[in-house]
Amino acid sequence: MSQTLPNVPIQSTMMDFPLTIPYILERVNTYFGTNEVVSMIPAGRDAQGRPIPHIHRYTYHDMYRRTKQLAQALQDAGIQKGDRVATFATNHFRHLEAYFAIPCVGAVLHTLNIRLHLEQIIYIVNHAQDRILLIDNVLAAVLPALLPHCPSIEKVIVMGPLPSAVPGVLDYENWISLYNPDEFRYPQIDEKDACGMCYTSGTTGNPKGVVYSHRSSVLHCMGTALPSALAFSSADRLLPIVPMFHVMAWGFPWSAPFMGTSLVFASVFSDGPSLAKLMQDEKVTISAGVPTIWMGLLVELEQAKAAGTPYALEHLKSMVVGGSAAPESLIRSFDPFGIRLLHAWGMTETSPLGTASRPPVGVDFESDAGYQYRAKQGQAVPLIDIRVIDEHNHDVPSDGHSMGRLLIRGAWVTESYYLDEEGTRKSQVELEGPLGKQIWFDTGDIATLDHQGYMTIEDRAKDLVKSGGEWISSVELENALMGHPAVLQAAVIAVCHPKWDERPLAVVVKKPGAEVTPDELRAFLEPKFAKFWLPDAYEFIDAIPLTSTGKFLKRALREQFKDYVLL
Ligand code: ADP
Repeated sequence: MSQTLPNVPIQSTMMDFPLTIPYILERVNTYFGTNEVVSMIPAGRDAQGRPIPHIHRYTYHDMYRRTKQLAQALQDAGIQKGDRVATFATNHFRHLEAYFAIPCVGAVLHTLNIRLHLEQIIYIVNHAQDRILLIDNVLAAVLPALLPHCPSIEKVIVMGPLPSAVPGVLDYENWISLYNPDEFRYPQIDEKDACGMCYTSGTTGNPKGVVYSHRSSVLHCMGTALPSALAFSSADRLLPIVPMFHVMAWGFPWSAPFMGTSLVFASVFSDGPSLAKLMQDEKVTISAGVPTIWMGLLVELEQAKAAGTPYALEHLKSMVVGGSAAPESLIRSFDPFGIRLLHAWGMTETSPLGTASRPPVGVDFESDAGYQYRAKQGQAVPLIDIRVIDEHNHDVPSDGHSMGRLLIRGAWVTESYYLDEEGTRKSQVELEGPLGKQIWFDTGDIATLDHQGYMTIEDRAKDLVKSGGEWISSVELENALMGHPAVLQAAVIAVCHPKWDERPLAVVVKKPGAEVTPDELRAFLEPKFAKFWLPDAYEFIDAIPLTSTGKFLKRALREQFKDYVLL
């Protein structure tokens, strides 16, 4: 018997399943409760004033119960949906508890970058209107200078013991001990609600706020863990050296529990020897950090090997490197240790993972072609799209050479900045694509794409050297220079030139005990670059100044060499 159907579009029959941080917390407790969270935290200081490491160890079951105690304490303090709760802390288990408890009460986890200038931190706290501050005991010295300028902060909680009680400040352990985890009730949370926020470091102008949603964060966790991206599972033990106070430690505090991956934290201990020992003792299988961290670790591994006491790191299968470009030479130098560096690119505005670089099928990781692919920033991960455009907003050819502005859109890319119309307007580009007209985010990076969509970062737009109307990539020159055996670190900056407007100056740090001359460096670069790309001069310095997140601080170098006269 025929039946007349109403002429309405068919509806999906699928459930509405909100993608939220509480879901991750419940999941890790149900399936991976016996996996571990290990934290190397400072416990006092030695005679030289250096922090003494202490290992704290518990399971995700323990984390789950303590997180619910903290969540209740927050609710009891009047924290409601949408309120901002700030952390000022290094990487450790209590900070992990905050990463879950704050979003689980519907509030917004606002991680403050502990390395910013005080004025910037004050600006950020006031802009975000943070109500509660959770701070590490070893960082509490900042409080007297900070609090008088931050009237929105109602309560300060110190994580870790203080030598003596400080008036008006609560001890984290005492605070949460008042609550019974079984009594915690989640509020109603929508997947589009805000769960976290992070400010860019604001190298130009004021810092800009990016607000992540539960949905974007959960999708980012899925995207990060995929085999084509960073590839981790419940069998892994992950040491994120990237700080939890910057870009949500690349999402690992959420993605690792989501996948059941055990977590290892290093708190204030980011020097080569401490990291190598922690990786060895805790059988770390995957780690993540910026190139300068891996340069420090490499020195330690090489010295230990030369001394006949190598570290046993046979469990360590990969180390993710991002935040700034990883030179091919750095990637190569870890292979003899059986450690695979995996290059990834991203930014605060992109949660951060945008691209990851694995050679195409059929190309060996350890072949020359494989290394060349791995030195690129790679292909967009699923649910991310990238394109590179010229000054007329046309896509540049995907030939691996044509440079342009890198645009991005995707499920975990910000569409705007928090309460910042001008910043938002400057970052948005509306462009036609295969799926119609869409808003893209302008990254401020200059990149190339090859015919398989492998992206290479050539520079930040503000760091490009513009010589006689041509663009010179400072990143390519730096990476090549760091391939010289006598060079530890190299940064290339633009200096003024009467004829060409700008010319490249290379600022070089030599390896301990190594010697090299400008002529030798020039001869080393000559076969690799067009003549007009070669730096006009080389300056040797003791150390390159670093940003709050361990990148070369080129602004400081430009300032230092602003009156440089090229001969
Ligand atoms: P900031 O460095 O300003 O504190 P972010 O951490 O958000 O803020 O940095 C994002 C920027 O870092 C990107 O725009 C890009 O220039 C640079 N970056 C990140 N990863 C890489 C990489 N793998 N290679 C080169 N540059 C990178």
